[in-house]
Amino acid sequence: MIITQDCTRKSAILIIYTGGTIGMKQDLNDMTLKPFDFSQILEEVPEIGKFAFKTDTWSFDPPIDSSDVEPALWQSLARLIKEKYDDYDGFIILHGTDTMSYSASALSFMLDGLTKPVIFTGSQLPVGVPRTDGKENLISAVEIASARDEDGHATVPEVCICFDSLLMRGNRTTKINSEVFRAFSSPNFPPLAEAGINIRFNNELIRKPNDWYQSLSINTELDTRVSILKIHPGITPQVVRNILCGDETRAVIMETYGAGNAPSAGWFLEILREAACLDKIIVNVTQCLSGSVNMDIYANGKILENAGVINGYDSTTESALGKLFYLMGKSADNNWVRAMMQRNLKGEISK
Ligand code: ASP
Repeated sequence: MIITQDCTRKSAILIIYTGGTIGMKQDLNDMTLKPFDFSQILEEVPEIGKFAFKTDTWSFDPPIDSSDVEPALWQSLARLIKEKYDDYDGFIILHGTDTMSYSASALSFMLDGLTKPVIFTGSQLPVGVPRTDGKENLISAVEIASARDEDGHATVPEVCICFDSLLMRGNRTTKINSEVFRAFSSPNFPPLAEAGINIRFNNELIRKPNDWYQSLSINTELDTRVSILKIHPGITPQVVRNILCGDETRAVIMETYGAGNAPSAGWFLEILREAACLDKIIVNVTQCLSGSVNMDIYANGKILENAGVINGYDSTTESALGKLFYLMGKSADNNWVRAMMQRNLKGEISK
């Protein structure tokens, strides 16, 4: 369904509603929050109509709690953006906060040749609640999506998250708080913009395309055979073997300690060797909120490197997951996937 708020101007923004708290209402039967239809949001944010450009809206039916997000939603979003790409100058995706970083990360890899902003936002409180953060988030996102430089090019032609006055590169974000308005952080990369009285863009950090007139291509082939192994004291050989060597697993994101360290126990190394024989792709990311993996610092890290574990650098787990889905969907060659995982493709790692 498309609803148009008419204004006859230069920019046109498409607001895509997938669900999430921003559009939720309390169900009086069990008092839980459930997604509601999109027209409610527009009624609650009449300011959208005051912008000097056209805003259209498109709603997924039914809207969902983002805990229900599956890669099929990312494929639908990529196809929708491709289909509408020439009609709009920017795209806002209203999305629940729980998996917003996963979705923004995945979309950053699935959209190639982006010359327009794709900005995810949502809220911690529904838009109908008096103290909602949803209005400010949506209005800032729309304003940023419509921003142009002096040549008329989009100021932020990236997949981003706009939340609580910060604009962050989507594949650098992680949800850090379930209660306060600042729900997201971009621990290893500074914000691309900050919205105060003015919106201050950190232009030198924003990725710009080589060719502003290239067309958008989308990668919707995803291979989801990825598991996540979080190392912890007391982890057992059975658990490690099930995850690293499981038939259904082509790649494992291993969340290690600190700078990329894991146990040096004989059984652990034995399982790593088994996984290597099975040609499993193992990516090392740190459990720390910020900082990077460096397997050359400690002997316990070096063991992993020697066992063929590849460096995820300062990637978030969310970004490593989306990147693996995308790369593995592109190629059956695990060595190629390993090589590409260690390259900076969309600004997701500091390399
Ligand atoms: N459970 C909600 C969701 O992710 C939380 C939110 O939107 O803030 O859809």
